Amino acid sequence: MPKLTIDNKEVEFIQGQTVIEAARKSGIKIPHFCWHPGLSISGNCRICLVEIERLPKLAIACSTQAAEGMVVHTKSEKVVDAQNAVMEFLLINHPLDCPICDEAGECKLQDYAFKYSKGASRFDEEKNHKDKRITLGPNVMFDRERCISCSRCIRFCDEIAKEPQLTFIQRGEKVTITTFPGKELDNPYSMNVIEICPVGALTSRDFRFRSRVWDMSFTDSICPGCSKGCNTIVGVRKNEILRIEPRQNPDVNEWWLCDWGRLNTTKYVNDEKHRINSPMIKPEEESEKLIKVDWEEAVSKSVSDLSNKEKKVLFFASPYSTLEDNYTLKKFAKEIFDSSDVVYIPNIDESFGDDLLKKPDRTPNAAGLKALGINPYTEKTLDDIAAGKYKAVYAINDDLDKLHLSKTKWNNIETFIFHLNSYNRFAYENADVIFSESTYAEINGTFMNFEGRIQRLKPIVATLEQERLLGEYSMSRLDKFGAANDRWMKEVRFDARPTWKIITQIAKAFGVDFKFEYSEEVFAEMCAKELGLNDMDYEKVGSRGYPVKK
Ligand code: SF4
Ligand code: SF4
Repeated sequence: MPKLTIDNKEVEFIQGQTVIEAARKSGIKIPHFCWHPGLSISGNCRICLVEIERLPKLAIACSTQAAEGMVVHTKSEKVVDAQNAVMEFLLINHPLDCPICDEAGECKLQDYAFKYSKGASRFDEEKNHKDKRITLGPNVMFDRERCISCSRCIRFCDEIAKEPQLTFIQRGEKVTITTFPGKELDNPYSMNVIEICPVGALTSRDFRFRSRVWDMSFTDSICPGCSKGCNTIVGVRKNEILRIEPRQNPDVNEWWLCDWGRLNTTKYVNDEKHRINSPMIKPEEESEKLIKVDWEEAVSKSVSDLSNKEKKVLFFASPYSTLEDNYTLKKFAKEIFDSSDVVYIPNIDESFGDDLLKKPDRTPNAAGLKALGINPYTEKTLDDIAAGKYKAVYAINDDLDKLHLSKTKWNNIETFIFHLNSYNRFAYENADVIFSESTYAEINGTFMNFEGRIQRLKPIVATLEQERLLGEYSMSRLDKFGAANDRWMKEVRFDARPTWKIITQIAKAFGVDFKFEYSEEVFAEMCAKELGLNDMDYEKVGSRGYPVKK
């Protein structure tokens, strides 16, 4: 491999790489605003200037190709002077309104002003004032004063979203980005410009002014919006999900997320109006109304309702639930009822898919069900229900109304048991027992994406179950600082449990001990028995996922 020297360190590079790429690969940081590894090079911000021996002038590291024997300095006096000058220039008209800027705390301009500027400006004229509240589209706001004209947002729309919706207009100090006349920034990936904007010029209409970033905690997760399984970082304050951002994974979503996934996959987690906050049963004598009960009572009613050996049970697995949940359901069907009648309801929407990330399969774990040998329901399943083959239905995390069976066809079912996290009309009308199950944001577990990659979920927010397991649960850093404002004191914890755990409890009441205490034990057994993967654990899944060879 060819080599160059950066700051006296010998660095290997691949032919064709630029100096900034070679430096990055070897852990040397060169500041940059306009350069982004996922976009073309524009070379307009100049903060990445470096000194290259035998070149007469400083060169920008983002567009200079690395060459064998090249000697680069990123911290020489000349370079530091250039960095100071660029920062002074960029800050001339910048409003310096960090105290009210959403980006503060994670802003490149703020960080670089600290690291690469002199901390003083010689400019004492009136700053050039511009509009601060421009609605660019349904999800993105623009603050013209904060923009440093790096063109990342323009290049993203042109090159990644393939919808050229932004452009520069004007010149010099008046230059600004804008949409074309009569058009909006409304492509399905528009919100990615918010993160790639190196300053607080582009902000999310959904998250704007909702929290300072240092008051939030962040957890790696997976978007459950479709079978792509994009990697995310979820921001939480006071046990409430406030923001989802992309987490870089070159094998899955690179640096991006779709707007739909960001905006629609978490709201229900904190929805106090619709979340199910306790197990419920329908008492024998009052046939109409569900009443809240404790976990033991719901388990014991399920056992008594399912105990009649003559009652054949149909099990509905769920492509929205984890591998652990579905494996435990399959095991439950087999070991307690000697049944393989486990099916699921697919959700394919061709209009949702595209060539970038979005997949027509709107569920996060259909590939996982396939790997577990669980197939979609068939016309025969529906005929069997109508013909009275089954007397009980046990369904996790899905809406059976999607089967479009008439009420009379369901009439043969004497017992309905559901695991649900949110209100569902069909379940409320028919259930004998409803278990309040945790959402994907409250559990340890795994999904398998459309390519067979197992990816890891971790608890993002806490339920009462976690509080019980962990004892004193530290809710957020805000507690420590005591800087409380009543408006932000939302701190709701639902009484919900993971599906695998509920099923394990019921199996135990039937006299069968699955010996599952943690989800990782379910995972290890499932990998060994269903996927032929011995000694698997969550560590092996790691942050980038584990591709299962087919
Ligand atoms: S809005 Fe942000 S990303 Fe777009 S040109 Fe300005 S600074 Fe760059
Ligand atoms: S493409 Fe699918 S997985 Fe990715 S963010 Fe959108 S909905 Fe979520």
